[in-house]
Amino acid sequence: MRAGEHDAGSLAEELAAEHPAGDVQSALSELQKLSLVSADQSTGVATFEPIELKQIPLTTVVLNINTGCNLSCTYCYKEDLDTPQNQRKMELDTAVQSIEMLLSESPDQKRYNVVFFGGEPLSNLPLIKEIIAYCEQRFGALGRRVDFSLTTNATLLDEKTVDYLAAHNVGVAVSIDGPKAYHDRNRITVGGKGTYDTVEKKVGLLLAKYQHRPVGARVTLTTGVTDIETIWDHLYNTLGFAEVGFAPVTSGDIADYNLKPEELGEVFAGMKRLGERYLAAALRNENIGFSNLHQLMTDLHEGNNKALPCGAGVGMVAVAHSGGVNLCHRFTGSDVPLLGSVETGLDKPVLNDFLNQRLDKSETGCATCRIRNLCAGGCYHESYARYGDPIHPTYHYCDLMRDWIDFGIGVYTRIMAENPGFYDRFLAPRRGS
Ligand code: SF4
Ligand code: SF4
Repeated sequence: MRAGEHDAGSLAEELAAEHPAGDVQSALSELQKLSLVSADQSTGVATFEPIELKQIPLTTVVLNINTGCNLSCTYCYKEDLDTPQNQRKMELDTAVQSIEMLLSESPDQKRYNVVFFGGEPLSNLPLIKEIIAYCEQRFGALGRRVDFSLTTNATLLDEKTVDYLAAHNVGVAVSIDGPKAYHDRNRITVGGKGTYDTVEKKVGLLLAKYQHRPVGARVTLTTGVTDIETIWDHLYNTLGFAEVGFAPVTSGDIADYNLKPEELGEVFAGMKRLGERYLAAALRNENIGFSNLHQLMTDLHEGNNKALPCGAGVGMVAVAHSGGVNLCHRFTGSDVPLLGSVETGLDKPVLNDFLNQRLDKSETGCATCRIRNLCAGGCYHESYARYGDPIHPTYHYCDLMRDWIDFGIGVYTRIMAENPGFYDRFLAPRRGS
């Protein structure tokens, strides 16, 4: 062994004063499963076995039910986004074909998810209601569970809509960027007015009435907005969201809104400071709803060894308003070739070819990256927006990602050592909900 290297025995010996040998061995096995620790030098390089999926294990279809949005957020990336006058709504037939495609491509799942996306999905509420009625009947007859969810800008919510969403158990997340000063910079009406005051009122209504499922806030971080802790504090403590997730924009179409490299560094530093508060709360057996870190804890706890960055193209596809199938909702309207259509089904050769290109890390920096089984080369859409190619790894912030994952592993092991019951209490219900 070289200096700094350990085998399982020497590690158990070194840690014997604080941790029983069995605990050290089981923690090592978990980290080995993720290839974060290797027992053998040869496992330090990614291997590649081509796959050929004859059946795609889809569980989720995202329906782009309207390209129109009643807002005009300055940074919006959607390539098929339209103003309300030019909106193109999905037809009921296309929505039904999408559901049937999900069932025929992947008939053996116990649970399915239908996600409503836009534009602003609530601007096509009549179609949402028709699809939900169809799915409840269709999946009910098959004895399969179906869950619904949507992300909304909240401006169109009213009591009746909230009651309807609650009655059908629709998961709701709200796009909101923090306190008024941050939110109103970018999240504006078509006429250019800030929307915070309206959104705050609607969120109050939503959170007061909709209590049976946690409602999350989704924050988009663009240049000039890096104050993670203030934003979390406002959304979690003042407005009362159950979860707050941050999406740093590094590769948007409108380059002026991208976080600058030093700002991205500040964002990750802020995430680590908030992460320390998450850890302190977890040791008190509380969850402060910091989604980014909570998801990482989930991945580590479940041993999610990711060969691909997310479920796009495998467990999930998105359908554009016209019926074309894309990797995920962020690709609808883009010039990335379609993966099929709801009429003809998935184009499996094209899909397999795409997945194999991303799985083959041999010519990339990911091949020897120690966090490749958690990052897997990064989000396809970020790669597409940054490099014009969804296959290309998101190399522009690898060091920050590695530092964030190292931080997350530290948090995970502290919680595991000092309050392992946290995972049973706060991760298991998420999976089962
Ligand atoms: S951090 Fe960079 S090198 Fe490592 S897996 Fe992610 S994209 Fe690849
Ligand atoms: S490709 Fe990116 S945006 Fe699309 S689902 Fe995956 S992580 Fe999300």
